[in-house]
Amino acid sequence: MIRHPLQLAGETVLPRAATRRPTEAPGLVDSFGRRHNNLRISVTDRCNLRCTYCMPEEVTFRDKRELLSFEEIATFVEVAASLGVNKVRLTGGEPLMRKELHKLVRLLVAIAGIDDLGLTTNGLLLADHAAELFDAGLRRLNVSLDTLNPDRFRALTRREGLDRVLAGLAEAKRVGFAPIKVNAVALRGFAEHDVVPLAQYCRAHGFELRFIEYMPIGADSWERDKVFFAHEILDLINREVATVVPVPHDPSAPAQDYAYTDGGGIVGVIASVSRPFCHHCNRLRLTADGKLRNCLFALEETDVKAYLRATPPQRSAIATALRESVWAKWEGHEINAATFIKPQRTMHAIGG
Ligand code: SAM
Ligand code: SF4
Repeated sequence: MIRHPLQLAGETVLPRAATRRPTEAPGLVDSFGRRHNNLRISVTDRCNLRCTYCMPEEVTFRDKRELLSFEEIATFVEVAASLGVNKVRLTGGEPLMRKELHKLVRLLVAIAGIDDLGLTTNGLLLADHAAELFDAGLRRLNVSLDTLNPDRFRALTRREGLDRVLAGLAEAKRVGFAPIKVNAVALRGFAEHDVVPLAQYCRAHGFELRFIEYMPIGADSWERDKVFFAHEILDLINREVATVVPVPHDPSAPAQDYAYTDGGGIVGVIASVSRPFCHHCNRLRLTADGKLRNCLFALEETDVKAYLRATPPQRSAIATALRESVWAKWEGHEINAATFIKPQRTMHAIGG
């Protein structure tokens, strides 16, 4: 699927590096010259919450036999690492709903070339699993938490569980995770009330808070008016928490971080809607059922499960699929354009 190029005012459009074919390019480079080293792996589409911005209340989860085994995931990561991937993040659905996730962590930290392994979780089961994940070698942890208010937690997640998330964060800190990042989706109607308490809570506990602008990837109908924008978040923080200043930025990192000038730590914003970072994107995704996606908003996928389930696994076919998928990546997601088409899979089934 080819889309019209995304171009924001004041930004240059990347020229296509059209002279090379995918199999000739070193590593995972797309036709705009973007090198991909960052892989997000969904380990399940199941979840114990039903966040309104992410998934529908009623959902049929995939049969567990459709999900990649830990060994299949590790084989995929070995091939990806041989092509230059060094950063891996486990996600879902809720990754801690996958039994014995620490065993996958152990397999992945042992893979040559993987030097950065992270996990994104809603934190509900974290108190039970933090120690075994840490022992297995996991160090980077993002916990999603949009509000400290029990009523708004219930309204957003359609479930109970705020206390368990807070207990999970405390246990993760106790066992030694650092840094611990807290991810909050910035949704108008909620964020106005939650930005300041979340910022104060994270400052008090030494967590790095990150706001993510609400994106059109859930089950709900999305409108731009429902996004609480990064500049509004920063205004609130500057006005009601403490002054912040931008810290030097790695352009391929989606978050722009800000430091509190009083030494209170870091707060970040991921401005996916108001300031897309597609031009520097270095990410690709593997879904729990073995589909390769070259963009969160991709409308096409490449199935690699059959290659992983062959005996022995077809590593060169996986490498070719990876190269071709990356090469075919479009320039940008076009959330802001009239031509934007929302993918059929909602966030929980892709892996955020
Ligand atoms: N269940 C885990 C969790 O919630 O952290 C991992 C999967 S979840 C899909 C990953 C991240 O995507 C979470 O931080 C969540 O808040 C974010 N997310 C989900 N739907 C979103 C949306 N429509 N816009 C922005 N972020 C979203
Ligand atoms: Fe579940 Fe995470 Fe989606 Fe919430 S954001 S429904 S916790 S997958």
